[in-house]
Amino acid sequence: MTLLVVLEHDRGEMAEASREALTSARDLAAKLDEPLHAVLVGEEAEPLAEEAAKFGAEVVHVASHDLLTDYGPDAWAETVRQLAEELDAVAVMAVGTDRGNEVMAQIAAREDLPFVANCLSVDAGDPWELTRVQWGGSLLEDVTLDADRKLLSIAHHAVVAEPAPEAADGDVEQFEPDLDDEMSVTMVRDRVVLTQGITLSTAPVVVSGGRGVGSADGFAVLDELAELLGGVVGCSRAVTNNGWRPHASQVGQTGTRIAPEIYIATGISGAIQHWVGAMASKKILAINTDPEANMVVKADYAVLADLHKVVPAISEEIRRRRAG
Ligand SMILES: Cc1cc2nc3c(=O)[nH]c(=O)nc-3n(C[C@H](O)[C@H](O)[C@H](O)COP(=O)(O)OP(=O)(O)OC[C@H]3O[C@@H](n4cnc5c(N)ncnc54)[C@H](O)[C@@H]3O)c2cc1C
Repeated sequence: MTLLVVLEHDRGEMAEASREALTSARDLAAKLDEPLHAVLVGEEAEPLAEEAAKFGAEVVHVASHDLLTDYGPDAWAETVRQLAEELDAVAVMAVGTDRGNEVMAQIAAREDLPFVANCLSVDAGDPWELTRVQWGGSLLEDVTLDADRKLLSIAHHAVVAEPAPEAADGDVEQFEPDLDDEMSVTMVRDRVVLTQGITLSTAPVVVSGGRGVGSADGFAVLDELAELLGGVVGCSRAVTNNGWRPHASQVGQTGTRIAPEIYIATGISGAIQHWVGAMASKKILAINTDPEANMVVKADYAVLADLHKVVPAISEEIRRRRAG
């Protein structure tokens, strides 16, 4: 028996979510007293086995097949399903990214098994008790899971990815799934890169503006600060609704969930739908004129003042210090 973790990568680049998955799986494997196995699916995956070992994977299965050149939910899920069967896995887990949940849901459908998505905590007793995030983070649900093979995903950003105190062996084993062409309902034929460099979801610094910014032009001071800090600009839905910034910049339940080192939220009230997208930030600085705004109350640091004065002043101070 094993605990099997589905790792995500994009043409050989490990997703941060995979490190999170292994970090939480390590604890679970120890509690279950089961070996921790990981599966890497697709082309260019094998070199990542070493990194998986650093995060505690005792065995790394590298699945290859003509249908697995790029991500396809059907072929990926069938591959993981077959491997889980071969290993007699007690549980299969991923991180609750769109991709992780899609693969797990496909496995659940194929096996007619329950699947618990976006878990915050897992108590592997008898039966398993889990707490999962629902409705974009505004509801926590306690779940009992009783199935021969447990299928679950860990909420993205619920844990901080950390290498194991000691790297595991990470023995690489090749796995060739039995897939036929009809299984691959979805295939990547072409890829168009829309954003380059750091993105909202991976940026170490996010400088966001809300309705308080006042206009599309008002974002110039945020663009300037973000550039000085090597970050990107985000916004609230009030801003995208006004057409001041594109939807791709929106943070929140119906936008992007972020987890930067620091989130600078200016002129944003911090409505729950915004907060759920920002709450995984390591530190939050709110700049707002309202001391009772939710964002101010929840932030680690707050400046109670007009953002149009404070933000340019921060930029100026950064430039002054760098010049000196
Ligand atoms: C189903 C659903 C999904 C949603 N999804 C999202 C989502 O993904 N993301 C999201 O952001 N919202 C989302 N919303 C909308 C959300 O409920 C709020 O309406 C929105 O976040 C408010 O945006 P805001 O904070 O910019 O505006 P407001 O709530 O109007 O807040 C503006 C803030 O700016 C401050 N301010 C004003 N002038 C200044 C100034 N000069 N200097 C400093 N501060 C100033 C004010 O004190 C206030 O706190 C969703 C709503 C629903 C119903």
